[in-house]
Amino acid sequence: MASHPHIAIIGAGPGGLALARTLHLGGIPVTVFEREPHAHFRPQGGTLDIHPDSGQLALRHAGLEIEFRQIARYEDQGNRLYDKTGRLVFADDDTANRDRPEVDRTALRNLLLASLPANTIRWDHALQEIRANADGTHELVFEQRTAGPFDLVVGADGTWSKVRPLVSRYVPQYTGITFIEFGIDDVDVRHPALSTLVGRGMLQAEGDGRALIVQRNGNAHLRGYAIFRVPVEWAEKTFEFSLPSAARARLAGEFEGWAPALVNLIHACNDQIVPRPIYALPVGHHWLNRTGVTLIGDAAHVMSPFGGEGVNAALLDAAELGRHLIETPAWRQAVQAHEEAMFARILDTAQGSADAIATELSHVGLQLSMETMQQHARAHANQFRSAENAISR
Ligand SMILES: Cc1cc2nc3c(=O)[nH]c(=O)nc-3n(C[C@H](O)[C@H](O)[C@H](O)COP(=O)(O)OP(=O)(O)OC[C@H]3O[C@@H](n4cnc5c(N)ncnc54)[C@H](O)[C@@H]3O)c2cc1C
Repeated sequence: MASHPHIAIIGAGPGGLALARTLHLGGIPVTVFEREPHAHFRPQGGTLDIHPDSGQLALRHAGLEIEFRQIARYEDQGNRLYDKTGRLVFADDDTANRDRPEVDRTALRNLLLASLPANTIRWDHALQEIRANADGTHELVFEQRTAGPFDLVVGADGTWSKVRPLVSRYVPQYTGITFIEFGIDDVDVRHPALSTLVGRGMLQAEGDGRALIVQRNGNAHLRGYAIFRVPVEWAEKTFEFSLPSAARARLAGEFEGWAPALVNLIHACNDQIVPRPIYALPVGHHWLNRTGVTLIGDAAHVMSPFGGEGVNAALLDAAELGRHLIETPAWRQAVQAHEEAMFARILDTAQGSADAIATELSHVGLQLSMETMQQHARAHANQFRSAENAISR
């Protein structure tokens, strides 16, 4: 009988769950430890575009292609760019047959959870620290209990990973950019004009060194981000987040002089207003292999959300680490091969994301956003055609 390493995954985000699923398919049992108390503790956040050569590929390897297609919103891939006067600078509306469908984060998590055997996830387990045993295994320490020993601990625990310090002394640094998140429910019925303004996909507007990004999510929900280049403490000092109506009025005030049609997106917010300072690890972040511990996803290479690559990279890391562990008899070598490949694979993506955030909100920001949208429109129309050809061959 094959003997497998005893594996713990920390974090039931997209990366951790996709790895658990891939290993389950390969006949390798795992336990996932997640700090949230249960699966429906909180909505998981906004919409994600899942890319063909990373996120979709990983879901295919996880045997979830059909299930993914059932929750993917191909009809919501549009892009619109406005200037601050409300002038439409660029529109890419005819996108239903493109290859980067949107999916709500909660729907993606539910899909992955449903694909795992019962008892794979230990909810309400917030990792506090990891203790190394003399025999090379590791013990996990939670608030009131411990678990282990484990041969391999995979940190899929996001930006503020508690596993990362075992292999790296880097911590994510503030990028200088803060998102203020807001939401609008039932937009088609309650705010048809805003629904039309945003269209089927994403609206972006830029001017005066600030920006708005608003994305259509499932169930007629809009999720928006007001984007500023500010010191990290600015948002907490400026807004009373515990008083949503006051925070909303203050946020709308930041867009004085903008077209009322755009500012109305903020006035219509009926949700909490939440600060999201954006942190990233350095481009090229890597570590020396340490037996028994590794990282995937944001824990390994958190980057700015510009480019929409984070979740796709996390899913691909999961698929690749899973594949290495299934195919390579010596699991230590499998982990080493995963790390080497991941460090090389993520370089361009992380660099692209760092370049994008460096020029965000600059004097040429609107022009650069338009060029990016034009490139995407061309590239992804073509990619879809080549994917279709590949499938029909
Ligand atoms: C505002 C914003 C917008 C974004 N938009 C996009 C986008 O459009 N497209 C895109 O691709 N990416 C986007 N991202 C990035 C994306 O969210 C991440 O790259 C992705 O979620 C990474 O997945 P992950 O599984 O590595 O980590 P996470 O999704 O962060 O999951 C980590 C999991 O670990 C758990 N956890 C954390 N600490 C512990 C602990 N100590 N013990 C136990 N469990 C723990 C968490 O509760 C969570 O369930 C965005 C990020 C932000 C901040």
